Amino acid sequence: MHRLFVAIRPPEDIRDLLIDAMDDSPALRWVGDEQLHLTLRFIGEVERPLANDIAAALARIRFAAFELAVRGVGRFEQRNGGALWAGVEPRAPVAELAAKIERACVVAGVEPERRAFHPHITLARWNRRNADAVIALERRRADLLSQPFLVDEFVLFESHLSRHGPHYEEVARIPLGRAG
Ligand code: ATP
Ligand code: MG
Repeated sequence: MHRLFVAIRPPEDIRDLLIDAMDDSPALRWVGDEQLHLTLRFIGEVERPLANDIAAALARIRFAAFELAVRGVGRFEQRNGGALWAGVEPRAPVAELAAKIERACVVAGVEPERRAFHPHITLARWNRRNADAVIALERRRADLLSQPFLVDEFVLFESHLSRHGPHYEEVARIPLGRAG
């Protein structure tokens, strides 16, 4: 089985800004540079033939390149903790691209995604007992803002989970059309 997801990889200067926003707070488990991404569609575990059909469907997507900027931070809460993330703006082009990817996945034979799309770049995971520290960090980083960057491709990743954390392998890069 192959654990797949589709994402945008921010360019190096944006990743540097995100890494600069991290601190050495032991309350947060920060993600590594190579793990920074914005998930457009989590596909999950699929067999090789479906993986091939997904890759082919994604390769047929035509979508114009667009600009995105990092803005602000927020957090998701799950039962025992959650994720601290950086937001992006504007939302419209990234949501349209995600919708197009969703249609391609469904055409290829993937079950439709029922959950709403919340574009974000996960910066850290946190545990419920450290919630106060996470809220404090969220306040300190409220004015996080990057220059706009060009999104001119998206990536199909295979995720390899291990005790040492996830490793994301690039399976395919799909270029976006020239902006404007
Ligand atoms: P770990 O699971 O070890 O914490 P991870 O969540 O980064 O690592 P994956 O679970 O393979 O690795 O997820 C890959 C990407 O897909 C991540 O951005 C993750 O947030 C996202 N993702 C995972 N599961 C879902 C899901 N059920 N719905 C939406 N996005 C998901
Ligand atoms: Mg996960």
